[in-house]
Amino acid sequence: MTVNFNKYQNNLVPAIIQDSNTKTVLMLGYMNQEALQKTQTSKHVTFFSRSKNRLWTKGESSGNYLELVDIKVDCDQDALLISAKPVGPTCHTGSDTCWDEKNESSFGFLTELETIITQRKNDASDSDSYVASLFKEGMNKIAQKVGEEAIEVVIEAKDENDTLFLNESADLLFHYLILLQAKGFTLKDVESILISRNS
Ligand code: AMP
Ligand code: ZN
Ligand code: ZN
Ligand code: ZN
Repeated sequence: MTVNFNKYQNNLVPAIIQDSNTKTVLMLGYMNQEALQKTQTSKHVTFFSRSKNRLWTKGESSGNYLELVDIKVDCDQDALLISAKPVGPTCHTGSDTCWDEKNESSFGFLTELETIITQRKNDASDSDSYVASLFKEGMNKIAQKVGEEAIEVVIEAKDENDTLFLNESADLLFHYLILLQAKGFTLKDVESILISRNS
């Protein structure tokens, strides 16, 4: 890995720190060659602190270390993307990130869809949407829909028609997201179980 440290003043390059699981950006720091080497050997992310004017291992006093997972250099070798597992909150304010955000997974469009489902659930009484109608009918109906869509996926899996299989898969996932919310859960709750089984 080549890093062009002498491109900027003080031989420092910016290092973006990202949670290896959730992909949330945790903080931004600066590294010189020594900081990068110490990060690689100690496996604890270490910066050159401009305010302290010395090497600074994040967590050195708080214990809230950033455990190194992976380091990438950008297209022109002057910026680092560091994947890490945070031990505790990353910001000294006690927040998960330096932008006062929660360090949570995002499933992209699926997370947007979960937000829409939550809205339909909350306004179920004055909405005539399909999702609202399912919430009005209740848990048994929603669970039954998941069962039906699962059977349709099984049927299409035996066939050669990929379009039908994918469409039934979408139906199943959609109704499953609704069932999770009817039970008061989200995809994140399921993800946590999968993560804990993996470790
Ligand atoms: P720590 O490295 O977590 O032991 O924190 C030591 C000191 O570094 C804190 O008192 C803050 O002044 C500073 N500090 C800690 N975390 C951050 C951060 N994420 N961004 C900027 N400064 C920080
Ligand atoms: Zn660059
Ligand atoms: Zn901070
Ligand atoms: Zn279907």
